[in-house]
Amino acid sequence: MRKILIVFGIVILAFGCTQSGIDNPEISIEELNEHISFLASDSLKGRKPGTPEGRIAAEYIGDQFQAFGYEEITEDGYQYFDVITQVVAGENNSLLTDEFSGTMDEDFRPFNFSSNSSVEAEVIFCGFGFDINKNGISWFDYKDIDVNGKWVMILRADPELDNDESKFIPYAKDRDKVLTAKDKGAAGVLFVSGVEYDKKDELAKLELDQLGTNSGVPAFHITRSFANKILKKSGKKIEDLEAYLIKEKNPVSFNCGVTVKGTSEIEYKKVKTQNVIGFLEGGDPVLKDQIVVIGGHYDHLGFGGPNSGSRVPDEHGIHYGADDNASGIASVVEIAERLAANKRSLKRSVIVMAFAAEELGLLGSKYFTDNPPVDMKKIVAMINIDMVGRLKDSNEIMVGGTGTSLQGEELLNVLVEGKDLKLAMSPNGFGPSDHASFYVEDIPVFFFSTGAHEDYHTPQDVIAKINFEGLKELDNFIYELSYNLINRDSALTFQEAGPMQQTGVRRRSGVTLGFMPSFTNTGNKGLGVDGVTPGKPACLGGIKKGDIITAIEGKSISNIYDYMARMSKLDFGQTITVDVIREGEKQVFLIQLEDK
Ligand SMILES: [Zn+2]
Repeated sequence: MRKILIVFGIVILAFGCTQSGIDNPEISIEELNEHISFLASDSLKGRKPGTPEGRIAAEYIGDQFQAFGYEEITEDGYQYFDVITQVVAGENNSLLTDEFSGTMDEDFRPFNFSSNSSVEAEVIFCGFGFDINKNGISWFDYKDIDVNGKWVMILRADPELDNDESKFIPYAKDRDKVLTAKDKGAAGVLFVSGVEYDKKDELAKLELDQLGTNSGVPAFHITRSFANKILKKSGKKIEDLEAYLIKEKNPVSFNCGVTVKGTSEIEYKKVKTQNVIGFLEGGDPVLKDQIVVIGGHYDHLGFGGPNSGSRVPDEHGIHYGADDNASGIASVVEIAERLAANKRSLKRSVIVMAFAAEELGLLGSKYFTDNPPVDMKKIVAMINIDMVGRLKDSNEIMVGGTGTSLQGEELLNVLVEGKDLKLAMSPNGFGPSDHASFYVEDIPVFFFSTGAHEDYHTPQDVIAKINFEGLKELDNFIYELSYNLINRDSALTFQEAGPMQQTGVRRRSGVTLGFMPSFTNTGNKGLGVDGVTPGKPACLGGIKKGDIITAIEGKSISNIYDYMARMSKLDFGQTITVDVIREGEKQVFLIQLEDK
């Protein structure tokens, strides 16, 4: 397929024609089929970021944009960036006492947030590792015991495992407990699962974390049998300690009288991947300064496997991603072609895009909005096309983000009139795909999808199940919307529709500062602020976009996890101090939290 294009390019050059890689400017089933056949073929092996096949997919799309006459506004029309695809334990992990040397993966395993360092120190058992005086709980595992420079050994989870409403839940995360231990001066943390929490006593898996941030101290998960070896001198056992803590709800802490030597080594495997970007300048002398972005993601899950996002992680097989999201890319390409063919009638400028690494957490679109090749203020609307190949008999299309502009819903209603399509609109701008990255930048978004299905994120998401008639109809509709957004007299008016971040991950106290955290890595030196919400505590207190938050109430913050942990312990109406670094200078702000 790529070969054909190259030959075609030469023919065009030979005839001196400027504007045509375009044979059939209409959105056609043959061409849609051609694109999906290539992208969802065996030879592209599931388009995993960082693989040669991922790159071939990107170049296929880039070649199309170029052939249609789109300009390059980045290096060769691509935007390269690193993503973390794997977190693995290094060669040098060790954990031992004078009498016993643990075996990696059998007796212990570091957590993904463990720092790469060594500690040799005594071990203090510290119950659940709590330090809580709130919501009617007082539980102090660190009371009357000095853990400074020592290992602390703590139980995972909390003492109310049967209670889904337990007040302990906000304090029960491993990572939050490490932060508490660090606050108390601990040099490292050894976690152990009680019998009630995990009868099988499986070691926690190394989870993938895109931020690659660590907690600043080594943190291991050890088995009960290893823990009991450390406890031997004290005459106690984890099983009994757990039972006592659950029954009596009374902290127990003591020095185990044993020295443990440990080294932790975590490696984040990075690969390079690339967004694909094409630019078409508008013809109106004024409006060409405004840009409409039309995009979708081209990456998928490769061969699947654990931690890949596959819903059948035990099945090793090509995850074709014909619907997710070869269908969306075929749409972007065909719409791009039709727009280019009508270039003379376009007033605003257009960016067509294929995002990389969406499946790893919207990384390509976030990278684009964090490192925009154009002034973000020029982008007046964004259309995201993700999974559009399975239009059902009901002809129902899901459109997200319809509330992110004053005019969105009405515009769609007008455009759909007389068509055989039904629109299921949802106003929220945040969602599980790339438009979310634009919505949080105050850009009106439209998210098109024909919805999830049983083959979603499995090897059964194949081209044979694509509804091409439906896809063509939908793409013509999206083209009409694009054309309207590009040519309408005044741009859409942005309005907030729903939260600007993922909510409901874990029950929290509900206290917020009202800002967008930056996902740019600060190298564990704080949490960046990407924008503040007018009228909310951060804004009222003087926090600004570009600040890096380093502490709350004098307690250090290295990354977003620390931030969430610190916030969960605050109360409504409280006045807090927030330390930030602004232009290299440390500043402290007094911030009044909202009342409930
Ligand atoms: Zn997906």
